[in-house]
Amino acid sequence: MVNEINNAHRFFLQVFISRRLLSEAEALEVYYNASEKYAVGAPANNFSCFVYTINKQIEYLYMEIKRGRAEHNGKVFFALVNTVEDSHSKVATDLSPHEMEYVQKIIETLVSSDNRNISSIDILNLGAELGNKIPTAIAEDIVSRLTARGWFTELSGHISFGPRAVIELSHYIKDKFQNQITDCPLCNDCVILGDKCESCEKRYHKYCIATVFQNVGVSDRNCPSCKVFWTNQVINIPRGDNLNKEALMSSVEKKKRKK
Ligand SMILES: [Zn+2]
Ligand SMILES: [Zn+2]
Repeated sequence: MVNEINNAHRFFLQVFISRRLLSEAEALEVYYNASEKYAVGAPANNFSCFVYTINKQIEYLYMEIKRGRAEHNGKVFFALVNTVEDSHSKVATDLSPHEMEYVQKIIETLVSSDNRNISSIDILNLGAELGNKIPTAIAEDIVSRLTARGWFTELSGHISFGPRAVIELSHYIKDKFQNQITDCPLCNDCVILGDKCESCEKRYHKYCIATVFQNVGVSDRNCPSCKVFWTNQVINIPRGDNLNKEALMSSVEKKKRKK
């Protein structure tokens, strides 16, 4: 059932229009604040219905508030996304075609790098590799602007895909780099970041593999596909998460039986 849109929905949407990306906790806080401000009931279990009502209203604008997961820490995010499958209209309307060429080059380099990250120095040097060079200062400005907006993320001197890129660009990246982007054997969704098994080279989402390794001693952690010891670091699963270990493992077993 779609509820009629009210001022609480409008307020919630306004926040997303200005911020674009909110963590689950932030989105819930805005939901409660909006409901309080406009004195409309806001039961905790009604949140997805609330978002659905907004999404029905903005569908015709090719916009959607979408739930996704930041691959680097597994945290749930909500983002206001453009549903048109075109990287230019998505990433940045304020970049020139030349600057966009630089961004494409970064995406291409990230996808083909082993750990899906580039050092902040290398990323600036990529600008100099273009036919029409991007000066360092401008490259720096583009990267920091896109990082602030969640397209990239920076961790200990390395730039990688940010939560927005993972939520909004994953299918675009998958289409464009079909040979390099694979599906996680555990959840069957495509992996933009993830960790690769050193032995069979299968790439898993960090949060999927962490779910499987929950309550498993470090020395007993083996790749779910090839059973060889897992050498990558494992992230902590965010609290209150609802991924199901048995369901993930059964997906790998099913695939094995098919072979
Ligand atoms: Zn997965
Ligand atoms: Zn393996």
